Amino acid sequence: MKKLGFGCMRFPLTNPEDNTSIDFPQVCQMVDLFLERGFTYFDTAYFYHGGTSEETVKRALVQRHPRASFTLATKLPLAKLKEATPQEQAEMFQLQMQRCGVEFFDYYLLHCIDDENYEIAQRLDSFAFVQQKKAEGYIRQAGFSFHGTPELLDEVLTQHPEVDFVQLQINYLDWENPKVQSRRCYEVAVAHHKPVVVMEPVKGGKLANPSPAVREMFATLDTNASPSSFAIRFAASLEHVFMVLSGMSSLEQVKDNTGYMAQFRPVSPQEVAVLEQAAQQIKADGTIPCTACSYCTDGCPQRIPIPSLFALYNRTLGQPGLQHKKEYQELCTQGAPASSCIACHQCEGACPQHLEVVEQLQRVANVFEP
Ligand code: SF4
Ligand code: SF4
Repeated sequence: MKKLGFGCMRFPLTNPEDNTSIDFPQVCQMVDLFLERGFTYFDTAYFYHGGTSEETVKRALVQRHPRASFTLATKLPLAKLKEATPQEQAEMFQLQMQRCGVEFFDYYLLHCIDDENYEIAQRLDSFAFVQQKKAEGYIRQAGFSFHGTPELLDEVLTQHPEVDFVQLQINYLDWENPKVQSRRCYEVAVAHHKPVVVMEPVKGGKLANPSPAVREMFATLDTNASPSSFAIRFAASLEHVFMVLSGMSSLEQVKDNTGYMAQFRPVSPQEVAVLEQAAQQIKADGTIPCTACSYCTDGCPQRIPIPSLFALYNRTLGQPGLQHKKEYQELCTQGAPASSCIACHQCEGACPQHLEVVEQLQRVANVFEP
């Protein structure tokens, strides 16, 4: 199996402000090209695209291609099952089969294990539930995606040696990040002999559009290679990684990714050295390392469009022109400005990147709301 997977959380949109407005004809073209070029792995989840990704996968992939031509992964939305009963957990699984239009999942994960979601999984006995579904033939491989500390990962894998694989956030920027701890989590998975699926290899697109200084560094290696190619190849070069997911948003991205991953070439020591320098440069540039996953927005009592405000801040690097200030005001009309944050910290508990959202919003407010 080729090491590139199609992440179904960043499909192209017809309205950039509406995460459910998926550009379906373009998604079909992307899916077709991905399969045509010999790639097979698709990764969706209940939550993606405001709950519409699984249905889109059914329509663009499952109903248009033979079942044997692809493998499909989705995830049990633990965060939605906080108050649920075991019966409701079983109903959720049935609903996901229906939404995806399949009779079995090739890969099924418990979504986003961290301290809080692990408690939910334990209360609902979700690991045993998934094993039961596997024994009944509805799941081929069972795993979980993870956003906690290496210590928690070690605890989960010690308590649940039955899982087949783990999904970790790994990219060259977070490899030594003291909050994400990609390297240490990877090492824990390897110590437990678990194969790894990589998520966020391009950090929500952040590594696809680096600053001119970083682009110049990459140009010393290869003037034709995209910044994403270095990021994805970095993750795919790790020995125990069997799949790297890329949330592709255009046909161009599918063309690019499948181009260099068709004949995968691991990163060389020289490339690793440049990626380490690039990471240093990116850390120094002052941007907010948000991946635009939107996990923080649902529970915000002020309805602040957090990822959109962070994206605008990053794009202007804290020095917006008049046009950007207007854009900020427009964004705020869909919710509320950064300064309306009441510091309840709900968003920080939900953020898989462990960002200090309150502090970062203050930076945004200082720049856009003088
Ligand atoms: S801390 Fe601020 S941004 Fe975060 S959820 Fe509360 S009000 Fe919203
Ligand atoms: S602040 Fe965190 S939770 Fe919110 S969109 Fe960014 S990365 Fe996701």
